[in-house]
Amino acid sequence: MDDAFLAQLRCPLDPKREATLTRDDQGLLCSRCSCHFPVKLGLPVLVPNEVEMPEGNREVSQLPCQRAANRQKSRK
Ligand SMILES: [Zn+2]
Repeated sequence: MDDAFLAQLRCPLDPKREATLTRDDQGLLCSRCSCHFPVKLGLPVLVPNEVEMPEGNREVSQLPCQRAANRQKSRK
């Protein structure tokens, strides 16, 4: 995975696709919600049901990326 490819990836939990991902030892980390996504066979697995949530967070809907999305919706 090269840096140019990485720079195009966004957190799948952010419907606006603004949150970027950074690489760490085991996979990719969302810069906004700190969710962790695995990399399998060199390919990032960016699907919500593979997500590893930050400690203390049990609900996907409580993550910053999702909360930002929900706020957006209710403002309309
Ligand atoms: Zn995120």
